[in-house]
Amino acid sequence: MQKMIMLKYGELSTKKGNIGLFLNTLKENIKNSLKDIDGNIHFDKGRMFIIVKEEDYNKVIYILKNTFGIHEIDIVYQLEENSLEKIGKALLELLQNYEFKTFKVVTKRSDKKYPLTSMEVSAKVGGILLKNISDIKVDIHNPDIFINVEIRNNATYLYFEKISGIGGYPVGVLGKGLLMLSGGIDSPVAGYMAIKRGVKLEAIYFESPPHTSQEAKNKVIALARKLALYNNDIKLHIINFTEIQEAIYKNIPHEYLITIMRRMMYRISAKIASSINGKVLVNGESIGQVASQTLTSMSVINEVVRMPVIRPLACFDKLEIIEVAKKIDTYDTSILPFEDCCTIFVPEHPVINPERKLCYEYEKQIPYEDLINNAIKKHEILKISRQEENNYADIL
Ligand code: ATP
Ligand code: MG
Repeated sequence: MQKMIMLKYGELSTKKGNIGLFLNTLKENIKNSLKDIDGNIHFDKGRMFIIVKEEDYNKVIYILKNTFGIHEIDIVYQLEENSLEKIGKALLELLQNYEFKTFKVVTKRSDKKYPLTSMEVSAKVGGILLKNISDIKVDIHNPDIFINVEIRNNATYLYFEKISGIGGYPVGVLGKGLLMLSGGIDSPVAGYMAIKRGVKLEAIYFESPPHTSQEAKNKVIALARKLALYNNDIKLHIINFTEIQEAIYKNIPHEYLITIMRRMMYRISAKIASSINGKVLVNGESIGQVASQTLTSMSVINEVVRMPVIRPLACFDKLEIIEVAKKIDTYDTSILPFEDCCTIFVPEHPVINPERKLCYEYEKQIPYEDLINNAIKKHEILKISRQEENNYADIL
């Protein structure tokens, strides 16, 4: 019997018209994220099968558990037979490694020509087990072990444990977006949620050296690396924002510093997004969180771009955001104390209801188009891969 990993797609299978695109994207993503691993992947209607060496199982399961588009991961034993007798014999052999007093057989039959129904297979297989293993009985409600039998055209798959996948859509199936990634708690969470909906992300970070430190930048790189696990690598565009920030600081009334600064960030982000064929911007804004996230502020800031801006956290409480940040392991990095450029030029009384007319007036005081083009021309791009762990067994 060959041991292998079997994947189920779940939510994907409801996307009737697009199923081909969804599956191809998922296959490509899996091939890509397992490219350094020696193994074999093959596909069969509604299922994907992966054979790897025993020592790679933990790593592969860890990667698959963090791959969007997968609903369930099963470690299965493939039997190239589907007679009841062979299935019974194989189960008796495999179950020697398991201790249980009660069991339930669950059969799935994708081979509709098979002479028995699923119920009949379960009953007969159960009978074989009862006859050959002493002191066990059937419990259909709360068994110690589920014995799963999946009969397909050419083979039968036997397995005893189900590992949940994280669901979502395969990354990239909805196209590309650009995540505005700061060192805070919110934006990595926003990025994770957009990736989950099938948006392949690149990220953009605005730094203002020497006002912001190398540590602040490293923190953003570390956060990008966390997202790379889900996004299958991530490109980080780093924009030197110092000149623009200083020009704003020197020429514009301080209550408007943040409003104008964010309008500049949006303008640059939209240009970078277009240049990478991105369809949307994604950021961590949440209604009412700070002065620049009142509805008036958001609309005055948003109006400088035509590209849609996705705000996955718009209606989340901070506590709800923190919960996800902990789940995706970005929280501890986000709360490190290094400041990014937002926090360094914060005025005492930022405007809560900025006026768009004033924004245009103030912006005339600085040659912002030249400054923006210049910053884009000089920008740095890092390609960031997922973090490799020393011991995958510990993090499963
Ligand atoms: P916090 O978790 O402390 O709120 P934050 O990163 O969300 O941190 P905000 O001032 O709320 O900080 O910024 C709103 C959004 O704007 C961020 O979620 C992020 O998407 C974007 N943003 C802010 N600063 C930067 C920056 N330096 N580079 C890139 N994007 C930024
Ligand atoms: Mg925020």
